[in-house]
Amino acid sequence: MRLPTPYRPEAVTVVHRLAQLDGRLDWQAAARVAAPWVQAVRDNPPPFWAMESLLKEYPISSAEGLALMRLAEALLRVPDAETAIALTADQLGRADFDAAGHPALARLSSSAIGLSKRFLPGGESGGLLGKLGARTVVAATLRAVQLLGHQFVLGETIQSAMKTAAQARKDTPSLTFSYDMLGEGARTADDAERYFHSYQQAIAAIASQADGDERNNDGISIKLSALHPRYEDAQHPRVMAELVPRVWALCEQAAQARINLTIDAEEVDRLELSLDVFDALLARVAKQQPQWTGFGLALQAYQTRALELIQHVTLLARQHRVRLMCRLVKGAYWDAEIKRAQELGLPHYPVFTHKHHTDISYLACARALLDASDVIYPQFATHNAATIAAIQQMAAKAGTPFEFQRLHGMGEGVYREVLKNPLVRCRVYAPVGAHRDLLAYLVRRLLENGANSSFVHQLADPTVGLEDLLVSPLHLAPEPSQPLPVALFGAQRANSMGVDLSVTSQRQPLLDALPTTPVPVVTETDPAALPAAFERCATAARVWREVPVGERAQALRRSADALEAELPRFCALLVQEAFKTWGDAVAEVREAVDFLRYYAVEAERVMAPIELPGPTGESNTLLLTARGVWVCISPWNFPLAIFAGQVAAALATGNGVLAKPAEQTPAVAQAMVDLLHRHGVPSDVLQLHHGAGETVGAALVAQPGVAGVVFTGSTQVAKIIQRALAAKDGPIVPLIAETGGINAMLVDSTALPEQVADAVVQSAFRSAGQRCSALRLLCVHEVIADGVIEMIRGAARELVVGDPAQLATDVGPVIDREAFDNIERHVARLAREAHDLLPPQALPAEPAHLVPPRMFEVKAVADMTQEIFGPVLHVLRWRGEPEAVIDQINALGYGLTLGIQTRIDSRAQALATRAHVGNVYVNRNIIGAVVGVQPFGGEGLSGTGPKAGGPHYLLRFCAEQTVTVNTTAAGGNATLLAGL
Ligand code: NAD
Repeated sequence: MRLPTPYRPEAVTVVHRLAQLDGRLDWQAAARVAAPWVQAVRDNPPPFWAMESLLKEYPISSAEGLALMRLAEALLRVPDAETAIALTADQLGRADFDAAGHPALARLSSSAIGLSKRFLPGGESGGLLGKLGARTVVAATLRAVQLLGHQFVLGETIQSAMKTAAQARKDTPSLTFSYDMLGEGARTADDAERYFHSYQQAIAAIASQADGDERNNDGISIKLSALHPRYEDAQHPRVMAELVPRVWALCEQAAQARINLTIDAEEVDRLELSLDVFDALLARVAKQQPQWTGFGLALQAYQTRALELIQHVTLLARQHRVRLMCRLVKGAYWDAEIKRAQELGLPHYPVFTHKHHTDISYLACARALLDASDVIYPQFATHNAATIAAIQQMAAKAGTPFEFQRLHGMGEGVYREVLKNPLVRCRVYAPVGAHRDLLAYLVRRLLENGANSSFVHQLADPTVGLEDLLVSPLHLAPEPSQPLPVALFGAQRANSMGVDLSVTSQRQPLLDALPTTPVPVVTETDPAALPAAFERCATAARVWREVPVGERAQALRRSADALEAELPRFCALLVQEAFKTWGDAVAEVREAVDFLRYYAVEAERVMAPIELPGPTGESNTLLLTARGVWVCISPWNFPLAIFAGQVAAALATGNGVLAKPAEQTPAVAQAMVDLLHRHGVPSDVLQLHHGAGETVGAALVAQPGVAGVVFTGSTQVAKIIQRALAAKDGPIVPLIAETGGINAMLVDSTALPEQVADAVVQSAFRSAGQRCSALRLLCVHEVIADGVIEMIRGAARELVVGDPAQLATDVGPVIDREAFDNIERHVARLAREAHDLLPPQALPAEPAHLVPPRMFEVKAVADMTQEIFGPVLHVLRWRGEPEAVIDQINALGYGLTLGIQTRIDSRAQALATRAHVGNVYVNRNIIGAVVGVQPFGGEGLSGTGPKAGGPHYLLRFCAEQTVTVNTTAAGGNATLLAGL
């Protein structure tokens, strides 16, 4: 049995979940039970209440709350005092902590250890840094953040955590714990190995104190993404082969000690994979540890298919005859799931967008778990008083044993009340780790405590009345709270539809298209035939320019819809002809669809006549018109998106087009042109001319009547075209050139190394480094350089280099022999001149032209002399002022993309302003420009602008005309006189 698709209408699913609960739950009765608990918490707040009230006063949505969160996320990991001071000043400076008359940070500190008295006397926080000395304020802030961390972490080591647990059991003897070893997911094999040992040690420690059964013993929660550096669907066979035995070793250890081992829930795109891992492990439990009843997994109610997931797990347990412990949570990655669905253009959200829908789902799932008591011992993780009461009610009816779970540091007040009933069982999810590892976890907790919609946040807010706090969630909001991904850009323009390659039913049509997509052979144009072709185009273009802009736009829109419908075929063609990986192919088809729709909208906007104000008696109208015949020359590295973008821009504005695609990728261009012809673009208006750049390309540029040239490719060829145009007689011809660059990323010591490693690997090595935006130069602050380099090296080693038609492949071949030889030559030079940080990995014999990711340490920015178009990264350590590094990058003369990784917001702003670069990306990768969202194009040697996919682009394809009419010419000023 496979799970249903996660992408289905939210409302339909909610109606179904509500039906499941019908007649099974008396919400009002549950609310009556919960009301006294809530009142008791408010009357008698638990320890640490200060933090909750702090977040009530400064919710995460406020500048102060955000500053607090930013400091909590970054400050503890900054190794150098200078940067720590800059970060603290930046965050404290942008927030108005004084608003309530006393600095919140002081209060935060004082609430815990009275730091305020020593370091932060009342007064203004505005001049805090100056008055007290920067180091003192940073020390106090550090301490405050550490204390925040202490609220949520049981101990730095498993031993100290178990000691704290023992303390807690003095008050509540029945309390059990599930330990969680904190940290980011593994990026490298070493990371995975380290986590494995830490889990082993933790289980051994827990086992040493276990003496009951699974329900009474403490247990452990494990994250599969911590145990494998490539825990993702595309690496399915490898995950099954490598991860399953590793987890099984932990399971055996847990089984022998009869403790609960829970596989934690992660992102939606890993769900199917985790189920396969789970199934394989269940089979082993059934065979080798049949007495063990402590195996289980966490289930997220916010997923729209949570209920089916529970049915699936129940079925598996029954098939294998294994009893499980299953934790039901609401889900911790909601914001990330929403963003991913929007970015990928998915048909629906995989999670509920209304909080109360998740609450409904939670209750329906709870019921399903209680109904499966023959194989499942349910563990309900919630801090919501009403949900707790509702579950108690349903469980009492079913007569099923279960336990509650809460996070350490949260929900203490409510559970203090709930546990007054000695029959109620509660387990505490207890994170264990050093400060460095708790930051991401801490931020999640701050978000949860600080979000206005969260129960714990409202509980701490006495202005929220009991009735509102305990209001029934059992009603339907018919529309999602967020626009669907397709509607992201409003009514004017649909977002392109994407594909979730981790879902079998979504990717299968693409894989099926591969064998049925032969790459057609095309015929090259004889340059001698070009003058006649030009004449035909010019004639046809005179008609095309008179076609109303709305009709031309419609032709592009129809083409966009058709391209979207033919996505599998075009993806297959991109994989075969341009050696794109599947992910890159989908992104490229989507970009082409977006270009077509965007320029359709833009043409209608910019070509509308503008009436200009002036003296009475005349009208003044500004008009844009087509220029004539454009030559569009494009590269092989985005043979569909860049090609379609150039052509669509020229056509939308009423121009004729003579297009020359790169000689390496003619078939993709041919397919696109055929499609445009089929949907209303006349064949003489848009003509495709195949052939070499030096012959056909150059001859096109040389045609006497050419009205403009739009070129994307190397700086070198752009210069050749510029000179050719300058040498021509006749009108001055505009050139839009988008060329290459030496793209850099600057990383300071506040950056998160895992985030840097992800961004670098994606930007430098993915797509075989054959993007114009690809990262070529990484400048990393010397105090964190060793660790960051090590992580990138480890992550790069995990990349799969090979046949792009395989889903598992991350890095396909470079485009041809010439490109391959070029890169080889550069690498040979670097091997002599620079320090080799990443020796080449062994490669498969097939296909040809594979280049392994490489990384070299250079001594100066100026050592970078030209763009190397492949997966080759240069690394530079810097110290001192980051501005100086930007100045050196500027001096290279290129200016396409720049990455900045820092948590100091004012620094990011200042560096972005200083950089002479077209596209700046902060705290993310530097690739993947989005049409209408991140218009793309560079400065200096990197191009002329205007940016492709931006609001100024079409203007360059047009001529401007003002028409002034003397409206009094016929004898008098009728308008003026009529107004008297
Ligand atoms: P290229 O410059 O070799 O070729 C680009 C196009 O120009 C091809 O169609 C080619 O046939 C044609 N051409 C070559 N010589 C010509 C001539 N004398 N007259 C007219 N046309 C000629 O580039 P490429 O190798 O295909 O592409 C890679 C380059 O493109 C890299 O430098 C990359 O950075 C750049 N690029 C830039 C952007 C951007 O948006 N800035 C996007 C993609 C690629």
